[in-house]
Amino acid sequence: RLLPADAETENDRRQVYRACYSRVQPTAVSAPELIAWAPAVAARLGLSDADCMSDLFVQVFSGNRLLPGMEPHATCYGGHQFGSWAGQLGDGRAINLGELVNDAGEHWMLQLKGAGPTPYSRNADGLAVLRSSIREFLCSEAMHHLGIPTTRALSMVATGEQVMRDMFYDGRPALEPGAVVCRVAPSFLRFGSLQIFAARKDPETLKQLLDFTIRHDFPHLGEPGKACYLQWFAEVCQRTADLIVAWMRVGFVHGVMNTDNMSVLGLTIDYGPYGWLEGFDPDWTPNTTDRQMHRYCFGKQAAMAGWNLARLGEAILPLIGDVGLLQAQLDQYTAYYRSQWQAMMAGKLGLIAFRAPEDDALVDELQRILQLTETDMTIFYRKLADLDDHINPDDCSDTMLMQPLLDAWYAPQQITADIKGQIGSWLRRYIRRLQQDGRSHELRRAAMNRSNPKYVLRNYLAQVAIDRAEAGDYSEIHRLQALLLRPYDEQPECEAYAARRPEWARERAGCSMLSCSS
Ligand code: AMP
Ligand code: MG
Ligand code: MG
Repeated sequence: RLLPADAETENDRRQVYRACYSRVQPTAVSAPELIAWAPAVAARLGLSDADCMSDLFVQVFSGNRLLPGMEPHATCYGGHQFGSWAGQLGDGRAINLGELVNDAGEHWMLQLKGAGPTPYSRNADGLAVLRSSIREFLCSEAMHHLGIPTTRALSMVATGEQVMRDMFYDGRPALEPGAVVCRVAPSFLRFGSLQIFAARKDPETLKQLLDFTIRHDFPHLGEPGKACYLQWFAEVCQRTADLIVAWMRVGFVHGVMNTDNMSVLGLTIDYGPYGWLEGFDPDWTPNTTDRQMHRYCFGKQAAMAGWNLARLGEAILPLIGDVGLLQAQLDQYTAYYRSQWQAMMAGKLGLIAFRAPEDDALVDELQRILQLTETDMTIFYRKLADLDDHINPDDCSDTMLMQPLLDAWYAPQQITADIKGQIGSWLRRYIRRLQQDGRSHELRRAAMNRSNPKYVLRNYLAQVAIDRAEAGDYSEIHRLQALLLRPYDEQPECEAYAARRPEWARERAGCSMLSCSS
């Protein structure tokens, strides 16, 4: 296409103007082998287990074959990365195969990740390695079964190709096995998909894309127009708030909340250097690239999502024309997030409802208590449900009160009397608060266990599955996949998967530290 007069000119990066996507063919691979698939996703698409085990399936979902009607394409988007506008990014290693409409009338875009270069690959290879594909495949399905909005994963195929990566373990380039994951979502549109057209002062394409999105994914908002755009922004703000509240509930840290990794549908998207909180620490980030800034650490996710929403608001400002209206929605985001976060915390603590301001103090104090000594977030909340609240807490010693929670502490023998005293005081206060609600122990326990998962994809669990897969054994992937279908249920035969992170995993690459480049 002809470049506009004010086009950025770059020698090493092809700029795609006035287009939302570019047609591109997946690169064929030599020896595709199906590693895993998600039967629940397949069923949603109308595919049976037999379909998924067929040769045709592995050929299609490795990028070797197209089915009639597939029109593979990569989309153009930009983004703010770590706070700075990065210009055009785009699907550098993702190729949409096309949209499938199922019997229920739902539309699902099928997208291959790692199927070769696209016009947006810049100087990278468009490929994905097995380890990052395993992390994406397992985590997107785990998130779904935790009840958290996310893109789904249909399949994971080993390509038989070797991919060169600069391994962050020791800094030396190494060959790694390649893989392709098929991701599935109603739409993969990102904040950055709209931002790119605003940045290029191309309001026509911006409007075309937003109108398409509203008709395609937000049909309940009615015909596009100024009022509708504002309602759309309000809905994106609300969905984003709900998403972050859900992440905070389970201790998920996305790790790269750049605006190109924010879905306009409020889905968790782009599983890269994500991680799960083990020891509760609001400052924790799994992303080695973010170890200085801590921009995307656990405790800042809501603020960063708000910052990203502000950038999205700026992008659509030309279509709305009144900055005050957008600012009001951003203020609403902050208030709505706060109320939903409080309701979520009430759920985690087994309170019938959050009572402000008393419960603010209870929760603030808890967050402090959780950081006095290394405390596993998942185990702590799960075990809190076992606390007996039909006692007079003043009759109980700190040690007695702490007994049901012992598994949550990484170094219980090192907890000083002073810290025990502080934890004990909080537990007494909590028990008294539960007694005000007067709910039966069984009801409270059942409610808490629906908010507090027993099993999450602990960083080291994924790494163990990766180590075995790299040695040719995919069974641990299947075991984790099955386990994480029922994260809130007790699964006595899998008790070890709910345990604290073992000490060997503390500083092991892949377990506590991950790089963006995977
Ligand atoms: P991410 O940090 O995963 O959100 O990626 C940022 C940008 O880099 C996106 O535009 C990706 O498509 C692109 N990208 C990441 N890895 C690759 C790769 N191996 N080949 C081509 N593009 C990539
Ligand atoms: Mg991305
Ligand atoms: Mg990525």
